[in-house]
Amino acid sequence: MLVNWEGIRAFFQTVKRPRTLLPHVKFPSFTNVPVGISSHLSNAYCRPVDIRGIVLDKDDCITVPNKNEIPNENLEKLRELQKKFGKSHILLVSNSIGSKKQDPTGEDAAHFEARWEIPVLRHSKLKPLCEQEVWDYFQRSTQIQHPSQLLFIGDRLLTDSTMANRMGAWSLWLYVGVQENSSWMNKLEGKLYQTFQPMGPILPQMNEKDK
Ligand SMILES: [Mg+2]
Repeated sequence: MLVNWEGIRAFFQTVKRPRTLLPHVKFPSFTNVPVGISSHLSNAYCRPVDIRGIVLDKDDCITVPNKNEIPNENLEKLRELQKKFGKSHILLVSNSIGSKKQDPTGEDAAHFEARWEIPVLRHSKLKPLCEQEVWDYFQRSTQIQHPSQLLFIGDRLLTDSTMANRMGAWSLWLYVGVQENSSWMNKLEGKLYQTFQPMGPILPQMNEKDK
């Protein structure tokens, strides 16, 4: 089992500021994500939202953990989102494939990219600490100008949602994911969510006048 020490360190930083783990919106699974996510968030928070890029988690989000098959219904949703946002604007960021620790040669990432036609980030730091590597990708490959134009989709509050908030992006939590049975981590995150949810999430700031 991969022990994410960087993630554990980030967890203690999060304890000091628990709103960092709160998502802005939650859905049971990937197929429930609306393609019109900007208007969904805009209505929910009564402010303009302009999502132009997506950071997508892999394990228990679009595939079963540590497997590389994308079930048909998730693939259909992925294609719908790619059609709306553009293929280069949806980046897969996983702590398994593409990470230096789990996939040092990048072979798994390259295979996944070629098979499913989705860019996979190669990163040296694990989530939630690879925000600079994520941002470098969007700077290099798209016209996206600000992290508030990004949406993170993932099943983990302590990695996916925390990284979105550290970056000043939007966070969408898949609280069921691909597998129905929940691990101790899912249960812990469910409890954390219930405890801190009344504080409300940190809202991404587009510019000074939004603050
Ligand atoms: Mg995951």
